[in-house]
Amino acid sequence: MSRLSYKIFGALLLTVLLSVGLTSFAANQLTASQFRQYIIRGNNEFITSVESTLGTYYAQYQSWNNVDNILVQLLGSNGGRLVLSNAGGLILADTENKWVGHLTDEYNLSDGNTVSVSGTAAGYFYWLGSDISASGSGYGKGMHNGQNSTGNSAVTIITEPQQQLLDEMNRSIWISGALAGLAALGLGLLLANQIIRPINILNRSARQIASGKLSQRVKVNSRDELGELAESFNHMAKNLENNEQSRQRLLADIAHELRTPLTVIEGTVDGMLDGVFAADTHHLTTIKEESATLTRLIKDLRDISLAESGKLKLEMAQVDIADIVQRQARQASILAKDKSISLITDISSGSSAITGDAIRLNQITSNLLSNALRHTPTGGQITLSLKNMLYQGKPGVMVSVADTGEGIPPADLPHIFDRFYRVTTSRARSEGGSGLGLAIVKEMTEAHGGYVWAESTLGKGSTFNYWLPVSRG
Ligand code: ADP
Repeated sequence: MSRLSYKIFGALLLTVLLSVGLTSFAANQLTASQFRQYIIRGNNEFITSVESTLGTYYAQYQSWNNVDNILVQLLGSNGGRLVLSNAGGLILADTENKWVGHLTDEYNLSDGNTVSVSGTAAGYFYWLGSDISASGSGYGKGMHNGQNSTGNSAVTIITEPQQQLLDEMNRSIWISGALAGLAALGLGLLLANQIIRPINILNRSARQIASGKLSQRVKVNSRDELGELAESFNHMAKNLENNEQSRQRLLADIAHELRTPLTVIEGTVDGMLDGVFAADTHHLTTIKEESATLTRLIKDLRDISLAESGKLKLEMAQVDIADIVQRQARQASILAKDKSISLITDISSGSSAITGDAIRLNQITSNLLSNALRHTPTGGQITLSLKNMLYQGKPGVMVSVADTGEGIPPADLPHIFDRFYRVTTSRARSEGGSGLGLAIVKEMTEAHGGYVWAESTLGKGSTFNYWLPVSRG
């Protein structure tokens, strides 16, 4: 049993013992007192009937002669003992025939029940028996209402069968209390086990996760707080697993991206050292280009990691996005011309003042334009447009870069903004990048409170749009 089980069991045991003990004790007290009241009522009736019978007897015979039989008859099955004395305290009759002829004082019988005839005491009778308040031991005197003449509590006569009944009742109370306690304890343990079991399962699973088994999940059976805890646990485990998988993928991707330019540099340098390649401009340019690729890759990685961790510092200022778009269009037009691509700029007049980081906004537009240039064949067309647009009810500007390139397969379209994602049908690596360009565009746009999305028709071309909120005022 676990430590929590011990605690629950201990708490349960204590609660059951206390509640059952107290309830049984209270029930016992209540039964004894009710039973006493019941006995007193019966005794009162008996004493009254003895008083009246003896009174009638004395009124009829004007003496106590032969009263013994009456006394025996009166006592009947009531139990105890009846003793009668005359007004002077001389005992005349005794159902046990022991004290006749003696004085009541000798037996400490000072306080008897008066038999009055025509207003005067004709005698006293004493009903002696077991005293309920003295656990049935010794003799007691039965009086009206269980009280003697001085008002103190007097004895209550109780017969043996009555005492047996009381004992029986008390025993039953204790036994049923103990049985109820056992049942409560059993049921409580069953319920406690239901609480502890899922906790143990969660505990085991948490240890498995800690030891690196991230595929570990727990079964959610209940809809209570423990069920919610298990659900949160599974959610946490899934996130951990996803993060670990993407970390491993990222490392593999980075290693892969670094390897190609490094292999080229190493091969070229080795070739030059071995005298296979001449240390001429051509080979040195190759080394320079591959080094530039490495520098760009490292810069991109740094940008993306800063943006993803929310640590990318944006130099925010009032900028006119139309100016940025036009500047990028001018730069792209040189390359476009080289490839005989017509570059059309369509900037509708409207509000284009936004709050943003000019360098990053240039980077976004430049990335999209260089992708468009790369994917548009000779003789194709690129349209760069800017217009005002509401996005989810908010005013902003939308910049679109539309090309007449090969397009993106629908299966790839949802993933092109993922890190290192590259469309497999895309052209040779020399034409493509590291698969980080669009991921950077997405992070940068979102850091500006904007959105980016792409539309594409395979074989016809693609349009990349980004939207940014305009400055208020
Ligand atoms: P890269 O730097 O390798 O181009 P990007 O993140 O910019 O990576 O692009 C991701 C993928 O989307 C690439 O595989 C690329 O082929 C594809 N892609 C990007 N822009 C276009 C476009 N204008 N037309 C067709 N495919 C594109």
